[in-house]
Amino acid sequence: MGISQEFQLSEPSKPLAGYLKNTAATFFGIDDFDHYRTLKAHVDQSLAQTLSEREHPTSGILPGELLKAFQPLDLDVPLNDFVAALEELKPLYLDHAILFHHQDYVAHLNCPILDVSLAAEHLASALNTAVETWDQSAGGTWIEQHLINWLAKRAGLPEDADGVFTSGGSQSNMMAMLLAREQAFARADSETPHQRLARYRVLCSEDSHFSIQQACMLLGMGKQAAIQVPCTDQRCMDVSALEATLAGMASNGEIPIAIVATAGTTDFGAIDPLVDIARLSRQYQCHFHVDAAYGGGLLLSKQQRQRLAGIEAADSVTLDFHKFAFQPVACSALLIRDTAMMAPLAHHADYLNPLEQALAGTPDLVNKSLQTTRRFDALKLWVTLRTLGPDALGEMIDTLVSKTARLGEWMVNQADIELLAAPSISTLVFRFHAPRHDDDTLDEVNRQIRSRLARSKRAMVAATRCQGRQYLKFTLLNPRSDVDQLAGLVADIVAMGHEVLQQMQSSR
Ligand SMILES: *Cc1c(COP(=O)(O)O)cnc(C)c1O
Repeated sequence: MGISQEFQLSEPSKPLAGYLKNTAATFFGIDDFDHYRTLKAHVDQSLAQTLSEREHPTSGILPGELLKAFQPLDLDVPLNDFVAALEELKPLYLDHAILFHHQDYVAHLNCPILDVSLAAEHLASALNTAVETWDQSAGGTWIEQHLINWLAKRAGLPEDADGVFTSGGSQSNMMAMLLAREQAFARADSETPHQRLARYRVLCSEDSHFSIQQACMLLGMGKQAAIQVPCTDQRCMDVSALEATLAGMASNGEIPIAIVATAGTTDFGAIDPLVDIARLSRQYQCHFHVDAAYGGGLLLSKQQRQRLAGIEAADSVTLDFHKFAFQPVACSALLIRDTAMMAPLAHHADYLNPLEQALAGTPDLVNKSLQTTRRFDALKLWVTLRTLGPDALGEMIDTLVSKTARLGEWMVNQADIELLAAPSISTLVFRFHAPRHDDDTLDEVNRQIRSRLARSKRAMVAATRCQGRQYLKFTLLNPRSDVDQLAGLVADIVAMGHEVLQQMQSSR
């Protein structure tokens, strides 16, 4: 009795409005729209300033140097002013952010982003749609589902294919391995799942992405469950080695549950022989997963599409639109051959997606995802496709492939440059290689070239190791890249290599 008294609101006449009077907080909405517009104008101005001031893809700053700028900050003491907060970001972030759209950024699989995609991302963030259930997203659910259906059709998967957007290729690969493990459990005999887990094996190539090993570890099979099949000289999975490995497994008590083909390896863009791997997957009753995080872009290209022949036999496919489709991070999907295969992902929580809701036909995407609250990442790809169309994306990918091929041909004829393999999609793995120097010296020189390029702001290039040796890598993802300009970068690399060699010799 006393409780209801205490909790009674004070005089009804006293207005509740004004409860934020001690803070400067406003919310996104029509009431404060002009305020929001002002904030947005400030952000756009800072972006324009950053883009016009910054001449290089990197500032070359080292972690310890940048950390000094954070020392005077006290997060307990606010600036009480948005413009001041933006100003403060300049030395902390804007002046040093790595610029992926810059011509001299040729390091990792980070693409320049289409402005229509960024604008659409903004829309999704503003409405703050969460796509996990129909009652939180409505049209967002159907947009994602339509895109999944369209992508599955592009990949040549059957009518009842399905899939879901994910946080990235690593999550897609993990989900694919999870579904493979669950299918294997379903086929298992009297052994306990725990006993079988230790015998499960996933076959992938030595050049496959590390997320496959990580998935095996997370799924209780252990990292060593990922068997790395050797690659041929073309850097593709060696089918005869795969066949021999599979044939020897039964006698060791090993059970192959999945074969992972990489369609576009991270370093070489190599495409594993999909048709042969599909055949062996069927023969050994394995889940056939295609990691097309990078190479999936070829699905959009008229010229290159046939290089993915065999992908239509996949049980699952990983696609990373933030790698090949000029989308902001994150934008990724996992496609699944048969919607029934996704059943193990469904969990019906009474407070979110009760079973009755699913039985009544409500399309709750959370039933197919490892995430609960999930961003509406499908929208930016949708708007990109509706504005520009898939052919435009495919042509941009063709441009990347042909520019990379041209640069590769040019590099083959350069003195003091060793190109490790002919390009497959849009990467070039090479090293500075002056005659009469041993491999250990060359390793050191190439390592130094990379850090000097970054430190001097000249360019961001990647590094990788192959057959125990240090290499440099270009990843071309900007369709506007100029081949001559990149050839100029290669020339600078050669000059820098000689400079490093000289310094090493004189300090000896
Ligand atoms: C980048 C990459 C991944 C991982 O994708 P994220 O989106 O970075 O999680 C998986 N496989 C391949 C072949 C990749 O290149």
